[in-house]
Amino acid sequence: MKDQQMTKKKIHDLEQQETLACVDAMDENGVFHLFRKAAELFSSCMNDYLYVYDITNDTYYITERATERFDLPGSIFHHVVEGHRQFVYLDDLTMLQKDLDDLISGRKNKHNLRYRWMSIDREPVWINCQGRTFRMKDQNVFLMIGCINEIGEKTKADNVSGLLGEVSFEEQLHQFRGLPRCFIMRFGIDDFKNINESLGVNYGDHVIYDVANCITECLQPGQYVYRMPADEFVVFDLLSESRKEVKQLYDLIHCHIDDHIAEHEYEALYTVSCGVISYEDIDSLDYEQITKLSQFALTRAKERGKNQLNFFNGAEYETFVANRRMTRNLQRAVSKEYRGFELYFQPIVKTGTGEVFAAEALLRYRNEEGELIPPSRFIEQLEESGLIVPVGRWIIHAALQACVACQQYRPDFKVSINFSFVQILKSPIYDDLIGAIEKYHLRPESVIVELTESGYLESNKAVVDLWRKLKEYGVQVALDDFGTGYSNLMNISQMQPDILKIDREFTVKALRDDYAYRLLVQIIEMVHSLDIKEVVEGIEQEEELERIAVLGPDYIQGYFYSAPCSIPEFMDKFVCDQSAV
Ligand code: C2E
Ligand code: MG
Ligand code: MG
Repeated sequence: MKDQQMTKKKIHDLEQQETLACVDAMDENGVFHLFRKAAELFSSCMNDYLYVYDITNDTYYITERATERFDLPGSIFHHVVEGHRQFVYLDDLTMLQKDLDDLISGRKNKHNLRYRWMSIDREPVWINCQGRTFRMKDQNVFLMIGCINEIGEKTKADNVSGLLGEVSFEEQLHQFRGLPRCFIMRFGIDDFKNINESLGVNYGDHVIYDVANCITECLQPGQYVYRMPADEFVVFDLLSESRKEVKQLYDLIHCHIDDHIAEHEYEALYTVSCGVISYEDIDSLDYEQITKLSQFALTRAKERGKNQLNFFNGAEYETFVANRRMTRNLQRAVSKEYRGFELYFQPIVKTGTGEVFAAEALLRYRNEEGELIPPSRFIEQLEESGLIVPVGRWIIHAALQACVACQQYRPDFKVSINFSFVQILKSPIYDDLIGAIEKYHLRPESVIVELTESGYLESNKAVVDLWRKLKEYGVQVALDDFGTGYSNLMNISQMQPDILKIDREFTVKALRDDYAYRLLVQIIEMVHSLDIKEVVEGIEQEEELERIAVLGPDYIQGYFYSAPCSIPEFMDKFVCDQSAV
């Protein structure tokens, strides 16, 4: 006991001095075990991990709790430098080893490093490891003691908002396990990034503080607010009994924030959106699930225009999850050399003669169950994930190779490829296309590029540049989807496409409705007067063909001739068989 007290005093002295102190009258194991015991005792009162490294005997001790969090060889292990390889994130190993070398060789006596350890699930976790070395006088004892704390840890309380933090929310959820009714409201400050960027982070902190206060002032016993990461707050509402009451609470908070802004003549006007999940949406008060679903509800509130409340909707969430699954499958297909993607061809024929003029290349995806999926169910995911860039390149090569094969039978055959706006913005699509045309020794006029008619076409510089360069090179440019959503006749005269593609939606309308039919007559006339060709899409029946053909469009595309089919089938039916349409 006396020995231990002496040692403690010496250690205290050691802490006071910058120079290395000496501890005597203690055998080396005694010192190591004394520190170890002390660390064990402290450990029960703290979240951090304490360690003792006996450099002389190459032995390391860390408080037991660390073994539940990190992939350590044990609470005590030997061959310390080597042993770190198991649980230190590979990229950080060299940096750590250099620091340990300096400490072991005595070049320095203090250690303070931020790096990553691997968790038991083999996820990297940021830690801050601090420590110091010291030697014992007259003894061959060289130790390092220190403390490790997780720097990425969620906070229990937040000083900016003055509220409890995420960890406290999680703890409270556990306390209320099995509760029959509750609502979880996740608030987010709209466009908070703009506030920080335009007025500075201090101003942003001020806004967080005020929003926290406004929310708190609207709550009653049974309603608890927490600060979440970034600009979010959660209200755990055990009081409201219906959606109506939750909506009333949101309205109250919303008005209170508005009044507060008006009263203080704020420089920044801000609003809050809120996503709500109720006890009916969740199987249990599982934290991960609550975070996921409430975040989804909040994101939807923001997507719908911000400054509003949105209740979680299970069907929407299922669609979202299915889309995510689709994106993952598409990613896998791309990484496996485009396995699952297929290019279909649909004939575009000359009106009157019925001769095949070109084929439109249309993408298909066959999922792992062998089901053929149409583009309406995956093009958007390809665009959103950026996968349309590599897939678009794959399409160009597959389409041009098939065009070469078709031209052996029909030298004037053309292939028509759809380009998405995302490809134009995110990839050197002009170089990709021209490179492929040259690679396959095709004439530029053998290729048609289809761009969708939409509001931004004529005003976007990247699109306008591409359009001009393609035309200069001799590739034909087609304006696709004309007659759907945004259709602007001015575009046609301004952009001068080689071909205008009238969408099926408009064709169907023209076949049903006299006014639309007369409009189609006018469009075809006007387009011809501008020396532009047109394709009428979506002709399915013979009578439809007759009614449209009399208007004199240049080309027809539709199920009447053929639905899109595989390239071998297309070649069989429309290319190799010269008697075909
Ligand atoms: P789009 O470019 O307007 O292609 C024409 C669509 O109309 C095709 O649908 C075609 O199968 C369909 N269609 C043609 N004739 C008829 C008909 O008589 N009746 C009916 N009911 N439908 C007809 P698909 O293949 O499902 O493609 C849909 C859209 O997906 C395309 O519209 C295009 O915007 C996009 N897409 C398809 N392939 C690609 C691609 O390779 N790249 C890009 N960026 N988009 C593509
Ligand atoms: Mg098209
Ligand atoms: Mg089209």
